[in-house]
Amino acid sequence: MKTTVFLTGATGTMGWAGLKELLAHKENYNIRILARPSEKNRRKLAGIESDVDIVWGDLSCYEDVLRGVNGSDIVLHVGGMVSPQADYRPRATRRTNLGAAENIRKAIVAQADKQPKLVYIGSVAQMGDRREPLHWGRTGDPICVSAYDHYGLTKAMAERILTNGDIHKWVSLRQSGILYPAILKNYDPIMFHVPIRGVLEWATVEDSGRLLERVCRPQVPDEFWNRYYNIGSGEQYRLSNYEFEQLLLDAIGCPKPEKIFDAKWFTTRNFHGMWYLDGDVLEQYLHFRANIPVKEYFEQMSRSRSVPVGIRLAKATKAAKLVPHIVKLAMRAMANKAVHGTQTWIKESLHSTDDAHRRTAQLRVAAYYGSLEKYNTIPDWQHADLSHPSNTPVLLDHGYDERKPMSEFTLQDMEKAAAFRGGKCIGLETTGENDTAYAEPTGLELWDTPLVWECAEGHRFTATPRLILLGGHWCPQCFPYPYPHVPDEQQRPWHWDAEAKRNPFFAQLWTPLHDADEDNIYDAHVFDGWE
Ligand SMILES: [Zn+2]
Repeated sequence: MKTTVFLTGATGTMGWAGLKELLAHKENYNIRILARPSEKNRRKLAGIESDVDIVWGDLSCYEDVLRGVNGSDIVLHVGGMVSPQADYRPRATRRTNLGAAENIRKAIVAQADKQPKLVYIGSVAQMGDRREPLHWGRTGDPICVSAYDHYGLTKAMAERILTNGDIHKWVSLRQSGILYPAILKNYDPIMFHVPIRGVLEWATVEDSGRLLERVCRPQVPDEFWNRYYNIGSGEQYRLSNYEFEQLLLDAIGCPKPEKIFDAKWFTTRNFHGMWYLDGDVLEQYLHFRANIPVKEYFEQMSRSRSVPVGIRLAKATKAAKLVPHIVKLAMRAMANKAVHGTQTWIKESLHSTDDAHRRTAQLRVAAYYGSLEKYNTIPDWQHADLSHPSNTPVLLDHGYDERKPMSEFTLQDMEKAAAFRGGKCIGLETTGENDTAYAEPTGLELWDTPLVWECAEGHRFTATPRLILLGGHWCPQCFPYPYPHVPDEQQRPWHWDAEAKRNPFFAQLWTPLHDADEDNIYDAHVFDGWE
């Protein structure tokens, strides 16, 4: 019997790779996708209309989403707005990504006893800044989205909407940076919003596509579901951002980073990315990795036909290597671009005559460099530490006994985990009328039971132990700008410095990477000037 797969985001980078893999195994699948009826999409999908059931519609429209979900066995929710688009349109990103998650949740729950399984594609951006010594991480670590990362916020909130108990069988696969040929031609000022020695464990687009097909196979065991996983292409793909730039520039025939960038153009913090302690778990279930040596992979990308002829020609003729100063001029312009250029923040924080503008720039500098003084101490390339970050992981405590079998957990374990988060686990949701009707759930059932929790500030919220203990989520009201339809001024701004003071679980991530006297609030100005 064929499995009916409903895929969102099929025309995007990861979705397209997944669609190709599903088509390569089309004898096993009824493939249904959701695509916006744009000219571009119609052209892109023209050749495959006979093999794919296309729902022409929009993730923001519940009826369109429901048409896709109706009768499907598995939903691959890959679609949404991503960077760099998300950096320029924060409000639209929130409306789109959170509205989509709500629609998917509602449509799956509407299937009553025939709910399809859900595969949600989350993001490493949910985990925020993981500089050394905390650059090794795993699921269950605290969710901590970097300031100004509107995309990361929506990915974390959507994960919360989709994995908090309403849907019976789900997984969240947190995607990393995707390596695909077009990355070689993506130039935008946000390329400097990364620390040189920050890290990512990249995932190739082919591995990501294979993953989407393999997760649909009936052989995937029951124990796989209702968990969070990190997607990465493995050890070879654990790079520092400096190593990544070296590989990338070499692949397109450009001189090395030192020749065309100033070290100071790169930020020193407030990005995201980590190497995975648990990346192999997903590989063991789905065997999606091709394990191509990373240098060879970059070579392959540079030969791809989706890389512009100009770049391929420049590589072949070594043109750029002969004129590094000209390449550097172009890069300097990028660092000095309005709004997202890092050098623009520095200049405006010092010299802007517009008070609001200057304050905005000062907050950017605080977020991405710590302070102007710290920016001024960034060494030049000659004195910069470009070494490979440590191979020794520092493990974060999740506040419960991880060796204990999940089936042996009780409410006392939840109370202990809550206390480590500065709060309480109140227990089962009650109606107040007939409380004795609620027996304490035991065994694995407990993990999927909605419990009431209270954060250090006294906010009460309902969440399953899976969401809190395995997902690393906590109070939604203490989360920055959680709600797309509430006025920004009425919502909690980014204020992680305060969270670290009341939540020991969060503090073990935040305190080592920030000064004790920092108290930065990123309020509604983060939306200023957009849209
Ligand atoms: Zn709270």
